[in-house]
Amino acid sequence: MTIRKQLTVLFTAGIAGLLLLFSLIIYWSLANDREDDYYGLLRHTAITKANLLLDAKVNPSVLQLIYRNAENTLFEEEVAIYDTSFHLLYHDAVEIDKVKETRGMIDNIVARKEIRFYQGSLQVVGILYMHRGHQYVITAAANDKQGYARLRNLEYTLCLTFLVGVILIYFASQFFARKALQPVADMVDKVEEITATNLDLRLNEGNGKDEIAELAVTFNAMLDRLERSFDAQKEFVSNISHELRTPLTAMLTELQVTMEKERDNLFYKESIVHAISDAKKLVRLSNSLLDLAKANYDHTEISFKQVRLDELLLDAHSDVLHNHPSFKVNMVFEKDIEDEKQITVKGNAYLLKVAMMNLVENGCKFSPDHECTVSISYNETTGIIRIQDNGVGISEADQQNIFNAFYRGQNSQYSRGNGIGLSLSKKIVELHHGTVTVYSVPGKGTTFTVHLPHQ
Ligand code: ADP
Repeated sequence: MTIRKQLTVLFTAGIAGLLLLFSLIIYWSLANDREDDYYGLLRHTAITKANLLLDAKVNPSVLQLIYRNAENTLFEEEVAIYDTSFHLLYHDAVEIDKVKETRGMIDNIVARKEIRFYQGSLQVVGILYMHRGHQYVITAAANDKQGYARLRNLEYTLCLTFLVGVILIYFASQFFARKALQPVADMVDKVEEITATNLDLRLNEGNGKDEIAELAVTFNAMLDRLERSFDAQKEFVSNISHELRTPLTAMLTELQVTMEKERDNLFYKESIVHAISDAKKLVRLSNSLLDLAKANYDHTEISFKQVRLDELLLDAHSDVLHNHPSFKVNMVFEKDIEDEKQITVKGNAYLLKVAMMNLVENGCKFSPDHECTVSISYNETTGIIRIQDNGVGISEADQQNIFNAFYRGQNSQYSRGNGIGLSLSKKIVELHHGTVTVYSVPGKGTTFTVHLPHQ
């Protein structure tokens, strides 16, 4: 069942329930009033007749005559007057005696002073009446035809009002439910239009205040994120294909040229050396890409342990020297270490080593002396690593972009690379809730500072 239908049915059922309750209360209250009023009227008639008989000394046969001749179709009461010893003193019409008084009933009236009850369609009241020191028992009975007719009329009106009301409420609630959910229907239409090729479409955010607007705002924010990551992926894929194509094309051309005609051994050797160099570039690139993919993983996919920064950097240091024997890396401890916790961070040793190696390699790569200094320090919350070189430096404009994937600065002709290293290092550091910043003076040197939280 759609929400619109559910709302319509629930709302209609709720209001119908309330209407029914109100109708029942009104009916019950009026029925009670009618009953009380009619008992009151019966009582009044009974006392009037008793007064005529006992006070005005009207002859019973005269009273009966009046009773028989009165065209009182509205109020056909039947009054009987007894003394307390159950002697009948007066009866409106003995031959149409409807209420059969008994000794027990008379005693009951004397004991309780007044009784009220129904006999079939008749309402009966029995009262103990005091007159000049004597007790009399009067019963009066009648059928409240008019009152019942009014009640039936009321029943009919209430039923009709209830039915018409429920039908009107049903259509009204259907209308309001449709109106209230219209923005959702519009949203569904709009969302159906959104595909991978038009991720720039956005939902109407309405008044920006209600729940549906909140949903649209949240959905639009999600689309923003999707669009950004979709664009980033597109850019990433095109960059990768470009990066892979360059060494592959170079390799292919080199080999094709070699194969064109018969060459001497030296030529073949040189071609093979070039091909190996291009293949190595490809291996480096694919390794970097793999690391980048790993750094992009969900946080929960990566295992985090306590890592000592000095051990990590020594490890990175020896790997860098193994790959580039001509590089020189100095290690400095800026502060005394009293507790190993001061230089321990929570992280993934493999990824952190990749990040540090990139920074150290860059420091050596972009320095004429191929030398850089790695310092270890700490504060209360973080371990601090500085990688400093006296190399070519980075221009101010480049400093804004060097952390973007595949970006290479103006100084890139100074050394080979693919522009992945820094973006990879930054991703890894951020994965560890740390920060990496750069300070560089062109021609003088560059310092990268990494903060990694202890916990
Ligand atoms: P790559 O080194 O492969 O070019 P990176 O992502 O490691 O890619 O670095 C991006 C760019 O940042 C480099 O091309 C270079 O211009 C600049 N850069 C990084 N580190 C240094 C450094 N220590 N000194 C000078 N320039 C640097």
